[in-house]
Amino acid sequence: MSNKTTKLIVAIDGPSASGKSTVSREVAQVLKIVYVDSGALYRGMTWKAVREGVDVKDPEAVIAMMNDTNWEFFIEDLVLRFTIDGEDPTDHLRSEPVRERVADIAVIPEVRVFMVERLRETAEFGELVMEGRDIGSVVFPDATFKYYLDADPEERARRRHKELVAAEGKGDVKQVLSSLQRRDTIDSTRKTAPLQISLGAKVINTTKMTIEEVVSRIAEEVNAYRARP
Ligand code: C5P
Repeated sequence: MSNKTTKLIVAIDGPSASGKSTVSREVAQVLKIVYVDSGALYRGMTWKAVREGVDVKDPEAVIAMMNDTNWEFFIEDLVLRFTIDGEDPTDHLRSEPVRERVADIAVIPEVRVFMVERLRETAEFGELVMEGRDIGSVVFPDATFKYYLDADPEERARRRHKELVAAEGKGDVKQVLSSLQRRDTIDSTRKTAPLQISLGAKVINTTKMTIEEVVSRIAEEVNAYRARP
């Protein structure tokens, strides 16, 4: 844990549907600090690629597109938001074409360098909770707190399926499981910044825990730290 003169940063990493998005958002609300969903940036870039018909497996084309993109970042209700070329992509970030391609965009080293820079800049907005895959390992290796949330693949598929049914009215658990496993494999075997448990991270297996239990554990640890002189 870093000393108290540095800005409070809570890094929460883990695979898809490990509970980290909901947990991170709620931890940020309880602590009244900014919430940053780093995956949204990768998804945003993927959304632009899909819209412009850029092949995500063609790094040169993706990099050319990336260099011709205007991002604006701002905070709304303690949540980091952004526009891409003046448009808010939020409603499209969880769409099927984006989720099937995002891991391919995220393997491109130049894309990662770009994203890591943008993500580090968000610390200018204040104390924050940032969730992702490489936050404790690459983006903020000196984060005040580092957590790695995990859950059994079947439980993760069940959770993601529930979200899909709520959002799209349908979903096939087996297909969700294979899509999650495909993304996990790409994310954890890529050469640059693979998904991993970063040095000093506390691992929380959320399979049998409720969101509230995970949130209170993290918030209590951070509040205990804050209360120290
Ligand atoms: O967290 P989320 O599921 O929205 O992330 C979407 C994808 O973005 C991940 O599967 C991963 O490929 C990529 N990502 C990443 N590094 C991060 C956050 C997300 O590579 N810090």
